[in-house]
Amino acid sequence: MEHILTICYLIGSITFILGLKMLSNPATARKGNLIAAAGMTIAIFGTIFLYRDEAGNLLHNYAWIFGGLLIGGIVGTLAAKKVKMTAMPEMVSLFNGMGGACAALISFVEFGHIAKHVQEGLPINLGSLLTIFLGLIIGSVSFAGSMIAWGKLNGKVKDFSFTGQHIFNLALFAVILGLAGFLLFNISAANIYLFYVISFLALLYGVFFVLPIGGADMPVVISLLNSFTGVAAACGGFLYGNKVMLTGGILVGAAGTLLTILMCKAMNRSIQNVLIGSFGAKSTGAAGGTSPQGNYKEISLSDAATVMAYANKVMIVPGYGLAVAQAQHTCHELEKYLEEKGVEVKYAIHPVAGRMPGHMNVLLAEADVSYDKLLEMEDANEEFKTTDVVLILGANDVVNPAAKNDPASPIYGMPILEVEQAKTVIVNKRSMKPGYAGIENDLFFQPKTSMLFGDAKAALQKLLSEIKSV
Ligand code: NDP
Repeated sequence: MEHILTICYLIGSITFILGLKMLSNPATARKGNLIAAAGMTIAIFGTIFLYRDEAGNLLHNYAWIFGGLLIGGIVGTLAAKKVKMTAMPEMVSLFNGMGGACAALISFVEFGHIAKHVQEGLPINLGSLLTIFLGLIIGSVSFAGSMIAWGKLNGKVKDFSFTGQHIFNLALFAVILGLAGFLLFNISAANIYLFYVISFLALLYGVFFVLPIGGADMPVVISLLNSFTGVAAACGGFLYGNKVMLTGGILVGAAGTLLTILMCKAMNRSIQNVLIGSFGAKSTGAAGGTSPQGNYKEISLSDAATVMAYANKVMIVPGYGLAVAQAQHTCHELEKYLEEKGVEVKYAIHPVAGRMPGHMNVLLAEADVSYDKLLEMEDANEEFKTTDVVLILGANDVVNPAAKNDPASPIYGMPILEVEQAKTVIVNKRSMKPGYAGIENDLFFQPKTSMLFGDAKAALQKLLSEIKSV
């Protein structure tokens, strides 16, 4: 039986690695997710039915286990089915917080056993206690931080900071580590309560850690918290000597860390800047009246339709606005119609377009856009030179030339889609308001750029009917 369980865990671990690898390509991502989920199911059911404790007993509390599985399964399925693509980071944050809470709860349960040993004067395993503390602290920070991130993303929690907050946070963290260190070497029946003090302080730290971070930086923070949850889960794996939990935790921890670094790089920001810079905090409301720097040109629907219908090559640049407007299906229709007219159509995908990694890939996949039409930034930048019309749909920062030309710009150094290399640029958005970074975009005032104002979906629908009449 034990061997079969080990094989279940081996299958689980292999599918996690395979799944993760497949997630890196849009064409295989869905399958990769399913494969990893199947492996996880095998590992879970293997544990439920095959695991034996030290006394050789199988698990018996099936009502609790299946009750929890059923409730969690139903809530998770409904939430995943209902969620809008633009609210995805919010849901990821909520789910991630639950993972952190689980890891912290494991520490609570296991500390209960240690406390019993201490009260009975039996020896305790220092390694286990250390792992319990790590799981507790990291899991609690991840849980509390993710809940705040979730609240910020859905507008229920406002940005909050006070002078000296970063010093306060550092001091709080030092107190948590100090208490854990003290308890580790001096645990006695009289100071067991300190464990609960540590868990309270870790929750508090999670709250204060995320509260001052600019609301718009939440996706990066969520990715970081995600890596924390992975590490906390790996602590659980250590504690139980459970290899699949360990592998899963390490993979989540490593993937979350790499993703955080990647997102920071793509935005040309350091992680310190994200954590203490409050970048983008002002722009989340997106209501502020900014004054356009100069004159811009507008283009009529019929002119836009003519320019596109007679082009050889059109490159579509999707951005956050396309997701907000849910215009991906109309966009795909336009693409198909133009192709029927003999126009070559491709999409230029910036790594941080939208509000989460892969946002545009997922959005366009939902509308059945063929993967080989999606160009990564480097390839797209090569192809702009031979492009007649670039149609920008609700993108702003990712095409802002200030990232290349203006050393004073907060986005200076961020790699961008160099759309100005094409012959004509048409920008669809609703107004001249800035995007996520809250800064003006010089592209809108360049001679080859024309603005096509309106909600992306409505504008595309009208553009499509105009093109049909050309
Ligand atoms: P931006 O946020 O820069 O711009 C989006 C634009 O869409 C806005 O200027 C807005 O203008 C327009 N818009 C909003 N709603 C609509 C609508 N219904 N129809 C048409 N247009 C609309 O988006 P980008 O995709 O260019 O850039 C993403 C930004 O997010 C980058 O700065 C990136 O660093 C940041 N970011 C990305 C993350 C990721 O992982 N992808 C994570 C964290 C941050 P208007 O209001 O005038 O319509």
